[in-house]
Amino acid sequence: MRRSCKVAMIGGGMSGLVAARELLRESHQITVFEKSHRVGGTWVYDPRVESDPVGLDPHRTKVHGSLYASLRTNLMRPLMGFSDYPFTGCDFEDTSKLKFPRHEEVLNFLEAFAADNGLIGFVKFGAEVVKVKRTSPDDELSAPWMVKWVQADQENIEHFEAVVICNGHYSEPRLPQIPGIDRWPGKQVHSHNYRTPEPYLNQVIVIVGKGPSGFDISVDVANAAKEVHIASRSLRFKAGKIPGMENIFEHEVVSHVDPDGRVHFADGFSVLADIILYCTGYSYHFPFLEINNLTVDDNRVGPLYKHVFSPRYGPYLSFVGITSATIVFLTSELQSKWIAQVLSGKCTLPSENEMMSSVKEMYDEMEEAGKPKHRTHWLYDKMEGYLDWLAAETGLPQIERWWFHMFDALLKSFISFGHGFRDELEKMPYSNLLK
Ligand code: FAD
Repeated sequence: MRRSCKVAMIGGGMSGLVAARELLRESHQITVFEKSHRVGGTWVYDPRVESDPVGLDPHRTKVHGSLYASLRTNLMRPLMGFSDYPFTGCDFEDTSKLKFPRHEEVLNFLEAFAADNGLIGFVKFGAEVVKVKRTSPDDELSAPWMVKWVQADQENIEHFEAVVICNGHYSEPRLPQIPGIDRWPGKQVHSHNYRTPEPYLNQVIVIVGKGPSGFDISVDVANAAKEVHIASRSLRFKAGKIPGMENIFEHEVVSHVDPDGRVHFADGFSVLADIILYCTGYSYHFPFLEINNLTVDDNRVGPLYKHVFSPRYGPYLSFVGITSATIVFLTSELQSKWIAQVLSGKCTLPSENEMMSSVKEMYDEMEEAGKPKHRTHWLYDKMEGYLDWLAAETGLPQIERWWFHMFDALLKSFISFGHGFRDELEKMPYSNLLK
């Protein structure tokens, strides 16, 4: 018999919205807690920055969003939709729309998705969850969860059978250790607090990290800065000026910094810099979660069966959107379908021991392949198998292959063209990217 569960969902961003839709489809009774006053999460551009620009002070004023004003997606338009609710303007024949939409379009899309699926009425806005804990010992699996939240300065408590966590993981800055940094006199900022290039006028900037944000921000800030020096673990070009870029240089990692403001790179080059801008990613953070059997260790959230379920609490504690280096929206959608069906009893989970063995197997494989712990939830080459598995588990037809072909084309273009990957792909017809 199908079960309907009373479920607390934390977060009304993309993952919370698609999870809400899937849980409603399986007839669960849901409450979505959203601390801000609108849906969309990351995609709500917030011009404010935090009081501590590197995010070390735990008492700083916090801002959820990490978008900068000029941001365009790094996945192509068709990869920004759901399997049965495509992103706006996704006609493969239509050449009038940018393949990489601006952030405002993504927010419009998510708001339309929430409205079209009747989700808004299930969201408690301005409601920040501050505590989630068990109401009885861990071995009584079906005992309820206590959820405490603050809304309009009032504390509230309610009990739920299950909790689905969709709180995002791009708000808590992650910083590298740089020898000498304590006595370095310049300004330090994390990309979480980068919004526009203007405050960086005529400055010499060192950008640490060359993931998607480091890449894009270096080009954006170069419009105002005197020089931009990117320190990266994997040099795309020979160390030095990047071909085609006026004032952007690429180097090996920062080896150390001096009290006179000089920043040294492992390639032997050094520069007197005004600002270090860290594009070094984020840490998973669940400040409200008070449970025993789950830890965050060097960005490994675990143990989690297939990045979603806590083996200890089985169906009753799950996470959506923990994974990265993937087709993000589709991944959250499939994870949500799985959670909805596990809660209703349509799908069953293996035993706790079996789930733990699967987690251990993944950790062992990573160790053998020399992959660092902080990459635990990166899917990349595992993405296709993972999404196909989720689709099969939830009784969906096989995922159409164009999703993966387009994602591969994107990765190849990123590797070949560096900063220019969007321009190159904008020129290509979709038909070239679908095979
Ligand atoms: P979020 O969007 O972060 O939503 C989490 C929600 O939870 C927020 O609304 C927050 O207010 C709420 N919340 C958190 N804690 C609590 C609490 N305690 N109580 C109540 N509410 C709470 N993805 C792509 O697919 N394509 C891209 O091009 C792309 N570019 C990106 C660029 C940047 C700079 C960043 C930071 C991310 C980018 N992403 C991109 C990834 C992006 O995070 C996902 O697309 C998506 O927003 C993830 O949705 P989410 O719901 O998991 O998290």
